[in-house]
Amino acid sequence: MNDEEIQILAKDTAKKHINNLADQLKTGDFNFNPQVVDEETKKAQDQERKRKVEEVGDILSKSSTFLCDMCKGCLFNLIYIVKQVPASISPNGKLTAVPVQVFRCGECNYISDDMLPNKLITDINIDEIVNRQYKPNQ
Ligand SMILES: [Zn+2]
Repeated sequence: MNDEEIQILAKDTAKKHINNLADQLKTGDFNFNPQVVDEETKKAQDQERKRKVEEVGDILSKSSTFLCDMCKGCLFNLIYIVKQVPASISPNGKLTAVPVQVFRCGECNYISDDMLPNKLITDINIDEIVNRQYKPNQ
């Protein structure tokens, strides 16, 4: 293919594109290339997400790791206490069960004081009800 043939092919291709655009404008199908906008938006969102993940990672790397009060273990199991919200004060007007997360040591099962949502448990003595004694897993 010589230069002249390339120029003819380029002109034909450009002409087809322009004709397509003109047809889209006539029929009202013309859309400002939404795919390109979506790609750019997606790229910006990905970058923002990546930046936030890095920011959280940076904050966590500067934070201390919580250790069990009893055995100094650093891995915890997630368990729940369940609060029963009476219908009279429940936002939906019905008796509602609300789970509250509590972390229990994965090594010795102890629930460290800092892992207890104390202000939420004022109606029971958790030390009497929950066995917080040292119980190593077997
Ligand atoms: Zn422990």
